[in-house]
Amino acid sequence: MRNWKKLKKEAIRETVINCLLQNTDFRDETIIGVPGSYLDEKVFNHQASFLQDAPFLTALLNNPNHIGCHTLGHSEPFFKGSHELERTVIRICAEDIMNGAPNGQDGYIASGGTEANIQALWIFRNYFMQNKAAEIHNIAILCSTDTHYSIDKAANILNIHLIKINIEKDTRKVCKDDLDSKLKSARENGIRQIIVVANMMTTMFGSVDNLDTYLDALSRNNLPYKVHVDAAYGGFFHPFSTNDKQLTFANPAVDSITMDAHKKLQAPYGTGIFLARKGMMEYAVTPEAQYVKGLDSTLSGSRSGANAISVWMILTSYGPHGWFERINTLVNRTEWLCTKLTTLGIRYFRETNSNIVTIWAEDIPEKSANTFGLVPNKHSGKPEWYKIVVMDHVSPETIEKFLETLPELATV
Ligand SMILES: *Cc1c(COP(=O)(O)O)cnc(C)c1O
Repeated sequence: MRNWKKLKKEAIRETVINCLLQNTDFRDETIIGVPGSYLDEKVFNHQASFLQDAPFLTALLNNPNHIGCHTLGHSEPFFKGSHELERTVIRICAEDIMNGAPNGQDGYIASGGTEANIQALWIFRNYFMQNKAAEIHNIAILCSTDTHYSIDKAANILNIHLIKINIEKDTRKVCKDDLDSKLKSARENGIRQIIVVANMMTTMFGSVDNLDTYLDALSRNNLPYKVHVDAAYGGFFHPFSTNDKQLTFANPAVDSITMDAHKKLQAPYGTGIFLARKGMMEYAVTPEAQYVKGLDSTLSGSRSGANAISVWMILTSYGPHGWFERINTLVNRTEWLCTKLTTLGIRYFRETNSNIVTIWAEDIPEKSANTFGLVPNKHSGKPEWYKIVVMDHVSPETIEKFLETLPELATV
């Protein structure tokens, strides 16, 4: 791990406070041109004694603005201390977790997986239009029907086609016949450039796409492509539970990746991560952002630097080994749940070493699903699936209680 180190609590506190000290202090310095400020001191308590030991809350009160992208070009000098921590977070994620080359990627902390996914598709749409003389009707997004709905949003906002490939029910893999026939008809209908969205753990099933299935079909149909990986769900899980690197920057075909820090990492909501190979962010630059030093190549505009600091604090508190152990505890617990379900003859889908178990709705009583807050695949009409996500708060004792409500177990 080049960038990712475990640090003691005191070292984390000191680093955060020092970074905040390097930011502009609106109280002490003669700064009159910036609309940025601390959180309102009449409303929010800046004097509380516990703030000494609460670096994240101190960061919230100091309210640094991380507008723009800090891994390329210039950035606002007023917040240079906390920008530095954001750069470290991006390098940990892109290099140490997603196997990118040193300094080979750009990125920023987005408001969530949705924004990071839109950012990716926005970049590739512009890339195809600026570099490949494509028109908007020549570009399509390619993904599976298990893909997150943020991709539907993105297609709508960006006004580009969306091609969704059917999934085989038992394996959650894309149907190759459907893929070939839809690509063929896309070509006939004038599609010339493809943006692939591959999933590193889907929201409902935890399933991981086989990127080569898409790429082989695209080569067969003579369609050029860019690849975005949606690892909003799996980004802080899958790389620790398997050795599979096909959906990371280790694979030259992968151009960008979304990760979410407000899911498995338990950062505050509003914390997604966008990563892209160097040379891609520029396709989303807004040259009109003239008052921002270094311009702005993100979708957000102003955004809270405290979010970046929270990710840095979480990652350095655990360190790579601590995080690995944490994930693998959940993998083992999920394994145990699956063994029990198999014994009971209850059908489910689980991707290798994932923490999501998606159960056939017809195999369990609705009452059990409701009592234990299982999530259905849809809220209108009869669901086909209920999922269990094995998080830290899902203890073996709770799982046991759930299992006891299932009829087969009750009769054993
Ligand atoms: C949660 C999720 C998203 C969207 O993330 P938000 O942070 O809710 O915007 C995108 N893709 C996948 C696979 C997800 O699980």
